[in-house]
Amino acid sequence: MKISGQLTVDDLPRVCPLLCRQTNRRYGEDQTRVVEVNGVHFGNGQPVVIGGPCAVESHDQTLAVARAVKRAGADMLRGGAYKPRTSPHDFQGTGVEGLCILRIAREETGLPIVTEVMDTRLVEQVAEYADMLQIGSRNMQNYPLLAEVGRSSKPVLLKRGMAASLGEWLGAAEYIAKQGNLNIVLCERGIKAFAAGEYSRYVLDLNVIPAVLANTFLPVIVDPSHATGVASMVEPASRAALEFGAQGLMVEVADFASGRPRCDADQAINGETLARIVKFARSRHERLLFSQAAA
Ligand code: PEP
Ligand code: MN
Repeated sequence: MKISGQLTVDDLPRVCPLLCRQTNRRYGEDQTRVVEVNGVHFGNGQPVVIGGPCAVESHDQTLAVARAVKRAGADMLRGGAYKPRTSPHDFQGTGVEGLCILRIAREETGLPIVTEVMDTRLVEQVAEYADMLQIGSRNMQNYPLLAEVGRSSKPVLLKRGMAASLGEWLGAAEYIAKQGNLNIVLCERGIKAFAAGEYSRYVLDLNVIPAVLANTFLPVIVDPSHATGVASMVEPASRAALEFGAQGLMVEVADFASGRPRCDADQAINGETLARIVKFARSRHERLLFSQAAA
């Protein structure tokens, strides 16, 4: 019996005809759309590594982390100026001041910025500062927000809802695409499964990476930081994500010398660990190119 509302991959041509390989033949069976963010290319074979703090807390904290991310050889800087927090009493981010700090960090490091937008009324403001707009897990099904970033000319990083199926995730991406913006990068960030919370924050769904690649031409990256919630798991999770075909990583980084981060401190890695992840991603890509050339 087929229960109405329950999606399977067979429903994808109906749910997301613009983005589904079966209905949009432009990228064939296995080509990825290349999404460019200020000189950084997602989906061209070379994995993109994004690093940065969970939240933009202050000028000094953000600049210290941005310098560490640059030194590590990463491609882009992340950091939330507007933070979706479980409690309204928790630190909510630094807002427009945080966006200004990100702009300063970009000027100094040259790293393009991705930052979250949570409110339709702020899409224009965030787009003025950011190179890429992030839709967080909690907002993956905020359809007016998806449509609004779809009307923006900025590329979008669409995180998977923490309890979203592949069909729901791609359906969300379709809302953005329907407005004419196909510059979308998907980001797996861990899902709620029975073991979530016992020994890790969420469960990193590695299997969804090849499933995404088979069903859509959009690039997909992985956020090992929120997926695990445990700093020591971030590096192995990053390697595993790349082995499963992820086209990039988004990692939370802290500069512990300048203080403990106010959000997500337990999952933050330092600059040296990020440098190892970048090195792994680069050398793996070179090995792949070499073996393809030899074949
Ligand atoms: C983030 O990346 O800053 C974030 C809040 O992650 P998520 O939306 O995946 O929880
Ligand atoms: Mn975080």
